[in-house]
Amino acid sequence: MGAQTGIAWADSTLNFWIGCRKVSPGCTHCYAEKLVRDRMGRVFTEVRRTTPENWAKAYKWDREAAASGERRFVFTCSLSDFFIEEADEWRADAWKVVRDTSHLTWLVLTKRPERIAEHLPGDWGEGYPNTWLGVSGETMAHIEARAPYLAQLPAALRFLSAEPWLETNPRSALHPNGDSPDFYIATLGVFDWVILGGESGAACRPMNAESARLVRDACASLRIPFFFKQLGGHPDKRSHEKAVLDGRTWTEVPVPCQTTEAPT
Ligand code: SF4
Repeated sequence: MGAQTGIAWADSTLNFWIGCRKVSPGCTHCYAEKLVRDRMGRVFTEVRRTTPENWAKAYKWDREAAASGERRFVFTCSLSDFFIEEADEWRADAWKVVRDTSHLTWLVLTKRPERIAEHLPGDWGEGYPNTWLGVSGETMAHIEARAPYLAQLPAALRFLSAEPWLETNPRSALHPNGDSPDFYIATLGVFDWVILGGESGAACRPMNAESARLVRDACASLRIPFFFKQLGGHPDKRSHEKAVLDGRTWTEVPVPCQTTEAPT
């Protein structure tokens, strides 16, 4: 993974639209905002659809994946949010691309999970076999608030991106028993995959390694694959140990469904 993108847990990114609005503390140092503003010279909050040529990449990748027999993980909307309101008129077209490219595994991640149910395609059924639905959650409170929206929806696989991980106090004030492994297990049980990483960049907020361990250990108890991306701003960080937690890497990834038939 990560062959053609800086995102360690995907092979490629494809942005059907670009631009977003901030919704929670995890957005504070949004890398997409910097990239869109500083490199593209655009106003980040003006959401715009990308070109047909860009969308066509998905079909090319799908043909390549079909020919090689190797599935490709595509993270969509790394510079936006797939379920943002401004994209409502374009989303049906995007779902068609996702549906058509059955040799790709699409990772659809959102901080707006309350909008998912109303904006799934009509033929979603039990979930497109090639589509993994995910929510972001930067603290246990955010995860607890967002996970139920995902839990009630059919999906081939549900995942959590806990990045940037900002849970500074495992003993959450909201949850007197927040440091209890049971609390973590109950909250994370909805997911089939968990990705966690500290914040990077000059102004990064430090990662609390103890709360990251609680997430990791809950995943182990639940047999949920756990992918540790990076320590980020954790004070123990050393460049060659960026993706190491307790002396080892954690790069578990679920096995994608091999079904290549589009839903009917
Ligand atoms: S939802 Fe994602 S893309 Fe949008 S502002 Fe927040 S971090 Fe950035």
